[in-house]
Amino acid sequence: ASVPVASSAQGRSRYIVVRGAREHNLKDVSVHIPREALVVFSGVSGSGKSSLAFGTLYAEAQRRYFESVSPYARRLIDQVGVPDVDAIEGLPPAVALKQQRGSPGARSSVGSLTTISSLLRMLYSRAGTYPQRQPMLFAEDFSPNTPQGACPACHGLGRVYEVTEASMVPDDSLTIRERAIASWPPAWQGQNLRDILVSLGYNVDTPWRDLPKKDRNWILFTEDQPTVPVYAGFTPAETRAALRRKMEPSYQGTFMGARRYVLHTFATTQSAAMKRRVSRFMAGAVCSACKGKRLKQEALSVRFEGRDIGEVSGLPLSELAAILQPASEGRLADQSSKGTLSRQATRKAAQRRIAAGGASHSAAPDVRRTPNLSDGKRIAAQRISRDILERIASLVDLGLGYLSLDRSTPTLSPGELQRLRLATQIQSNLFGVVYVLDEPSAGLHPADGEALLRALERLRESGNSLFVVEHDLDLMRRADWIVDVGPDAGDWGGRVLYSGPPEGLRGVTGSHTARYLFHSAPARARGLREPIGWLRVAQVTRNNLHRLDADFPLGVFSCVTGVSGSGKSSLVSQELVELLSAHLGHELPPVDQDTTDEDHAFQVRSTGHIVEGGDLIHRVVQVDQKPIGRTPRSNLATYTGLFDAVRLLFASTPAARARHYDAGRFSFNVAKGRCATCEGEGFVSVEMLFMPSVYAPCPTCHGRRYNEATLKVRWNGLDIAQVLSLTVKEAVNVFPNEPAVLRPLELLQAIGLGYLRLGQPATELSGGEAQRIKLATELQRTPKGHTLYVLDEPTNGLHAADVDKLLEQLQGLVNAGNSVLVVEHDLRVIAQSDWVIDMGPGAGDAGGQIIATGRPAAIAKAPDSVTGRYLQPHIG
Ligand code: ADP
Ligand code: ADP
Ligand code: ZN
Ligand code: ZN
Repeated sequence: ASVPVASSAQGRSRYIVVRGAREHNLKDVSVHIPREALVVFSGVSGSGKSSLAFGTLYAEAQRRYFESVSPYARRLIDQVGVPDVDAIEGLPPAVALKQQRGSPGARSSVGSLTTISSLLRMLYSRAGTYPQRQPMLFAEDFSPNTPQGACPACHGLGRVYEVTEASMVPDDSLTIRERAIASWPPAWQGQNLRDILVSLGYNVDTPWRDLPKKDRNWILFTEDQPTVPVYAGFTPAETRAALRRKMEPSYQGTFMGARRYVLHTFATTQSAAMKRRVSRFMAGAVCSACKGKRLKQEALSVRFEGRDIGEVSGLPLSELAAILQPASEGRLADQSSKGTLSRQATRKAAQRRIAAGGASHSAAPDVRRTPNLSDGKRIAAQRISRDILERIASLVDLGLGYLSLDRSTPTLSPGELQRLRLATQIQSNLFGVVYVLDEPSAGLHPADGEALLRALERLRESGNSLFVVEHDLDLMRRADWIVDVGPDAGDWGGRVLYSGPPEGLRGVTGSHTARYLFHSAPARARGLREPIGWLRVAQVTRNNLHRLDADFPLGVFSCVTGVSGSGKSSLVSQELVELLSAHLGHELPPVDQDTTDEDHAFQVRSTGHIVEGGDLIHRVVQVDQKPIGRTPRSNLATYTGLFDAVRLLFASTPAARARHYDAGRFSFNVAKGRCATCEGEGFVSVEMLFMPSVYAPCPTCHGRRYNEATLKVRWNGLDIAQVLSLTVKEAVNVFPNEPAVLRPLELLQAIGLGYLRLGQPATELSGGEAQRIKLATELQRTPKGHTLYVLDEPTNGLHAADVDKLLEQLQGLVNAGNSVLVVEHDLRVIAQSDWVIDMGPGAGDAGGQIIATGRPAAIAKAPDSVTGRYLQPHIG
């Protein structure tokens, strides 16, 4: 299908007109949307908002752009398909700002993404103060990512690896048998090493700290690899006796020192998981040559306002702004050059300072006229500083002033990254563009929402259109226009229920959005629960937390709140989960796939510990929004495990038995049953230069994933591919008598995911959907109680109606004897909780403290709590 391009007369109209959009679940949608306006696309999740805003409008704008620039791109687009829409008129070029994490390979940072770092390098190169007789450097000499700039000792990493006793033996009260050496390999291999130590005569039943220093050092750091007889299953006494009698050993075992094992595994393993596991024991030590600043000495000796470039790259942006302010006003202070100066030069500089803007800053710096401070330099400094300050201002406006330039993008939340991109766009001064954004309010405290709105308004004022897929009710109220999609999800959605100014939505029956937008919050659904105990942690030092003590109530539903960057995730999702996992002896939660091994090895180990209540928790479960898989190979059915049961059903049919097909035959991950062309993916991936690869349907099986022979087998009239294309809701009716399939299906439906297809690839699922699938998978386990569920902003991507469903499930978990702890901004959720821990007062170094803690009603009245101010109207 090809889309007729709008005629130029229509192009100048005030509206973008869409006719007959049928992408995904859209039901032949026609709608007109104003330009140069803030337009919110609302609706429950799965209703089709993104299919309209991204899948149709943005995709079409992008297609037209590519078509206009390159025949090569055009060919790819032909393969991938064009959006299914009859016509779009008046569509300007579009820029999408989607929420995604920084891509793993690219080592980008806040500074590189915003291009502030390159300006800063220019500033140091042109306007920095050089030591006497040092020649001027080029801008690249100030970049740790270039061979010219990198510190030769650490190759520009700023850190060197160190494997120490403290990193390998976190708890020295344990014996070797009790796994004191945490860095040893798990399971059999670890046991093998222990048995070897027994044969070598080491005591494995004495607490580590009571072993002689000499023994400890040998076990950890030896490079020797002795081979000795091992008597598996023998006690130390039995082993000694066996050695004396020269009994036939179980086998000969070779020892490897604990540090050697860590370094060797890190360097050689093919398994990313193993690499990650051992990287945990490699403490990153600051490089002594560059003190962690990653640059060669010559670069670090150049100063601006008395500081080197490494130092200022580590400062919060708001502080960096304060440093650049004088220079941007033409008042360049320079303290580093200690050469002798003529009195005349000093006087001239002082005059210039006065002329340039009155009072110099308080501790009047030693401003001297040197060759370093020529007029040329001063002017360069002024111009570049102004440029940087402008960029910083839009970042600070969006509540990101707490970030530093050297912060790596993989450690940013998707919301922070999106706002970073938004700020960069504001700087780009484009006009006449449609910006398509995906829930920009995600991760924002209501207090930060104001700044976001201002940023969006600025883009609109410069003549752009803003299409925002959004759930935040306040943002909807402040929009110029709402396109409400629904009424429900998947096949039960895909219609435009309303398109117009927000107020007009009030009368639209059947709109879930209208129900929440215009009706005040319901009263509390339930009484307040009393905690059955407390989990107390102390001395937490991590990111912006410094020796923080915190108490978490158990057996209740509690929320951790606070402006973004205040330290909620650092406390809950990072520290608490790690402390509990360690306490419970769980294998540590998988590290974020996007964090590189180096990042992980370099994390500062916290001094935090559990003081009380650790034993009241038997399990800790973190339910996050990370994708459940990154290829179309994992899907809803495989992830929840219900597909195993379905495959067994197929294998037990007479047709399958006659052909000797086992359950494996019905897996698209096993060669015998799947389509050979796409190897069971249903799609073939098309690699595109400069862009993420895209998937096109398989030409052989047309997305069915299986070969013809496998598809001959039917269960109750359906072949296996047809089962995968059922929605959850439909499948409930297909498998009413199969509890192993039915139970997960019912849970998925209860949590609002009835519209998803069983075979829906993980790559098509949103973060919110992924999170709810994880939750449903968790719910189908036999309830044991005493579990702590930790969720970080579970309402991201959820419509208020979906939030209610989620809340119901979370409350159910608490009723079953568990504890639920969520990091949350949604005031309706906070109001329904039993306990609130409010962090702040600000972000970054201005936060990191607990401001108020108590019942929601008490927080609403707490004088110092920003959250409280916003919470008040929601307390029934
Ligand atoms: P929303 O943005 O309102 O949450 P979406 O537009 O993402 O909804 O999804 C609307 C419907 O289209 C849902 O049923 C969803 O499962 C389906 N869908 C989304 N992406 C794809 C895709 N790439 N291929 C097929 N169906 C999809
Ligand atoms: P919140 O969850 O309240 O938004 P965070 O705990 O994410 O706050 O962040 C608190 C502070 O710690 C911020 O200054 C943030 O920039 C910093 N921070 C968070 N994660 C990391 C990290 N992985 N590396 C470095 N700094 C971090
Ligand atoms: Zn170095
Ligand atoms: Zn195929």
